[in-house]
Amino acid sequence: MNINWFPGHMTKSLRMMDENIKLIDLLFYLLDARAPMACVNPAFGKYIEKLPIVYVLNKSDLADKNQTDKWLNKFTSDKDRAVCLNSTQTGSSKMLFRMINELCGRVIAKKNTKGVKPVLRCMVIGVPNCGKSTFINNLCGRKKAYSENRAGVTRGKQWVRISDYLEVLDTPGTLYPKIENQVYARHLAFLGSIRDEIVDKYELSLELLKELNEKYPLCLKNRYGVDTDSDPAELLARIAVKRGLLIRGGEPDIDRCGIAVIDDFRKGRLGNITLENCDENL
Ligand code: GDP
Repeated sequence: MNINWFPGHMTKSLRMMDENIKLIDLLFYLLDARAPMACVNPAFGKYIEKLPIVYVLNKSDLADKNQTDKWLNKFTSDKDRAVCLNSTQTGSSKMLFRMINELCGRVIAKKNTKGVKPVLRCMVIGVPNCGKSTFINNLCGRKKAYSENRAGVTRGKQWVRISDYLEVLDTPGTLYPKIENQVYARHLAFLGSIRDEIVDKYELSLELLKELNEKYPLCLKNRYGVDTDSDPAELLARIAVKRGLLIRGGEPDIDRCGIAVIDDFRKGRLGNITLENCDENL
């Protein structure tokens, strides 16, 4: 299975980000904590050196905490900070404001000396469905953006005024023009960052079961009550039978079961899982 998805609107989005980058003081770079490296977009590489960054390991409530701690370390540097969040829960804005002040101290001082009221401008970037809209809603303490669990739902440029001192540019979820690393491509598809319609869900569910069986076999056992000592196709059929997902004649409904398994992973029903091990070269 080869996965690539880069519709025309993403080229436009990258252009919009290029045009606005000179206005920006800080980046919020959202990564899904369950597969942080797959969410690192080479197309954003040119912004990374120039600006302070707060890496947000979002959806950390669904990830493996041990791994999240390691990834936080990895993304922290002299210039950048990393935090893990569950953006669906409020209460993190104070900590984020503190971080912004700390990283933008020099910019604030410079704007102050010019006698200008220091309004900081941040840009939120990330792949589709990593939680950008939810994160911004959380930051501003109210609902500002339409958010939905479907790749590519946030479109167009939106400046959001968070306070008198802070404005945030929301950007549409953007992928990379060509996903060379197909491990990352699969991870993005598992996470729902690639439009479901362009991926064969049955094939995808087999890939997911294969990977989970290697990394988190207990999660599969606990959720589905099946032995995991078989190949993914057989495993999927067993899960279908166990869950009563059958077609006429009593055969396992593998297509419906594949969709259910992917959905279970996305919603965290399989437990806390991180697909990318920080200690390994992927
Ligand atoms: P965007 O496409 O990057 O703007 O993503 P959205 O903000 O629309 O979020 C996509 C889905 O992920 C929605 O169903 C959100 O409720 C969900 N979501 C966002 N952040 C989190 C989080 O930290 N934890 C969990 N469990 N779900 C989240």
